[in-house]
Amino acid sequence: MLERPTSYFGRYVFNEKAMRERLPKNVFEQLTNALNGGPQKLNIRIADVVAAAMKEWATSLGATHYAHWFHPRTELTAEKHMAFLSIDEAGTPLETFTGSELIQGEPDASSLPSGGMRSTFEARGYTAWDPTSPAFIIPTKKGGTLCIPSIFLSWDGTPLDMKMPLLKAITAIEERSLKLMRLFGNRGVRWVKVTVGAEQEFFLIDETLARRRPDIVLCGRTILGCPPPKGQQLEDHYFGAIHPRVLAYMDDVEIEMHKLGIAVKTRHDETAPCQFEFAPQFTEANLATDQNQIMMTLMKRIARHHNLRLLLHEKPFAGINGSGKHTNVSLLDSEGFNLLEPSNNQRRNVQFLAFLGALILGVSKYSSLLRASVASPGNMHRLGGFEAPPAIMSIYLGNTLTNVLDRLEEGFPEEIPTSGMMDLGLNKLPSIKKENSDRNRTAPLAFTGNKFEFRATGASQSIAGPLTMLLAIWAWGIEEITNRIESRLGSSDITDATLDVLRGVAKESANVRFEGNCYDESWHEEAVRRGLPIANTTPEALSYYLIPENRELLSNLGIMTDREITAYYETRLEQYIKTVDVEMAVMEDMIRRGILPSISKQITQEGNAFERAISLYDEDFECWRGQIRSLCETKEQLIKKLKELGQFRKKISETNLDESASLMTHDGLKLMNEIRALSDAAEAWISDDIQPYPPYRDLLVIQ
Ligand code: ADP
Ligand code: MG
Repeated sequence: MLERPTSYFGRYVFNEKAMRERLPKNVFEQLTNALNGGPQKLNIRIADVVAAAMKEWATSLGATHYAHWFHPRTELTAEKHMAFLSIDEAGTPLETFTGSELIQGEPDASSLPSGGMRSTFEARGYTAWDPTSPAFIIPTKKGGTLCIPSIFLSWDGTPLDMKMPLLKAITAIEERSLKLMRLFGNRGVRWVKVTVGAEQEFFLIDETLARRRPDIVLCGRTILGCPPPKGQQLEDHYFGAIHPRVLAYMDDVEIEMHKLGIAVKTRHDETAPCQFEFAPQFTEANLATDQNQIMMTLMKRIARHHNLRLLLHEKPFAGINGSGKHTNVSLLDSEGFNLLEPSNNQRRNVQFLAFLGALILGVSKYSSLLRASVASPGNMHRLGGFEAPPAIMSIYLGNTLTNVLDRLEEGFPEEIPTSGMMDLGLNKLPSIKKENSDRNRTAPLAFTGNKFEFRATGASQSIAGPLTMLLAIWAWGIEEITNRIESRLGSSDITDATLDVLRGVAKESANVRFEGNCYDESWHEEAVRRGLPIANTTPEALSYYLIPENRELLSNLGIMTDREITAYYETRLEQYIKTVDVEMAVMEDMIRRGILPSISKQITQEGNAFERAISLYDEDFECWRGQIRSLCETKEQLIKKLKELGQFRKKISETNLDESASLMTHDGLKLMNEIRALSDAAEAWISDDIQPYPPYRDLLVIQ
């Protein structure tokens, strides 16, 4: 009989249940107190007890190693495994793990990107235990590793990871939310938490075919390839019956996720052929970020057991949909209320509008920061692709809320008594729930009934980056709204004061609210008219980090210092340049060693047949001759363009960061597109038996 998920859910997580079972009562209480923001800090004595319990727990489940598991600025996670096994002076083997080993690690991670924050001679960074995300075990066939979620800093305390800024942004918004709630008289509320659910899109292709493509192996996407005869034209994949091979894979992923305490709720076929989605149940933001990273890592690993290859790239195939990671966000209070949930209670509804207005106000002022947060090498190929949100950040609210804001803006509420005023729209708020299906899928940021959904995040990105910026913007909005309300409280009550503030917010945010189709060309023109920031390329979008107001926002909220922002920007830009450079090198290699020789073979084959034909028949065979000629010409042009590419790469290696980025984006990508067009045109005429790489036609079908 198969075990039920409830019986193994969370087996590999050192969660509250495991802690309660294994820690002395007073230590458990001190630890949970400290985690809930209590006055007592964790000390080494407690850490020693926790470490001993963690080790016992982990080894009882077969773990042989531990690792500080952290999020460097690569979008991936990092880990350096340490064995529990050590040998004492008498030569006796022991399993050891101390409190100080739990609290701090020194991975000498000198080769991880820091954007010039460390020079190599003072390279040692250290990792520090983040007890707010529970430790977990990644099992292997013969053991397993106890992973300790950690932050990663340089010796002077400068963050070098994705987690520190996120944790600071979470604190910033939680503190400000609590203050706003107090203003609404919620005395009993002890805490507010950010909740996050990340829907993960991905592609699965056959591993045997994937291995034969250097672009997939090295870049995670195809750099060459002519369109398949059947792509997504028939729209027959979305929500289709899941292929048994994929379903078997999904079952395995789910079982492993469940053991790691991740409740996968949704699985389905996505729009493009071979594209799928998993959505876990939402949880607290820090944990959700870790869980998404665990999920991506294990999804990749488990795919191999099914002879499948997982592609998380934002645009693995040209001409069909790319993959995103819709990031759903809301706020939850200690009484169990979702602060973005409209309710029947009027006071709660006004409070709901205040939180909603705070985000809208923030985005209207700082949308460029949101755009910067999703600027990655891969996402550039996806955003604005008419199947993904455009590169312009706007908010969709739906009819009801837009009406509420419009009416506020028109000033209606002022002219009528309070109760009537509420009737004017606010009383209708509960109907928002019914309108849940009123969905506009084209907006980058949408209110979806009781949460915001940020759709611009790339599938391979860590959600930490986009979340940090979204929460920073929202935290600013909450503070701003709180101040504005407070300044009016002397003369009016909280409801009137809030509605008055929201009236201003409605006006100020009109620029960023858009209910229409964001894929439409006309929206682009409209956005220009509205003066919204538009960045179509990754370097342009990244440069938004350097806008003085954005820098001020992040440093005022204590999320990143000015120097850290510069470093963050440089790391991102460098990552972009290096990624494009690797793609160019792979393209060069594939053309030189695969495409060009195959064109020659095709020409030889055709040429021989052609000569034979004209010796047999007294005819010109004009078209045929032309086809052979065109292959010869394509080959000639490809060789010429490859030369240009070589020269271009040499030039790039000699220019500075900003200049390389700009050259890459404008001249480099153009050159790559030209080369691809030539190569794809040739590929279409090369016979199956001499194709150097499996074509789209075969890659995009799971047999
Ligand atoms: P859809 O594809 O229709 O947008 P899904 O069901 O695939 O919706 O995913 C919705 C995601 O939003 C899930 O991960 C879910 O857990 C998450 N979510 C739901 N409510 C909240 C909330 N209050 N806070 C954060 N995330 C939420
Ligand atoms: Mg979904």
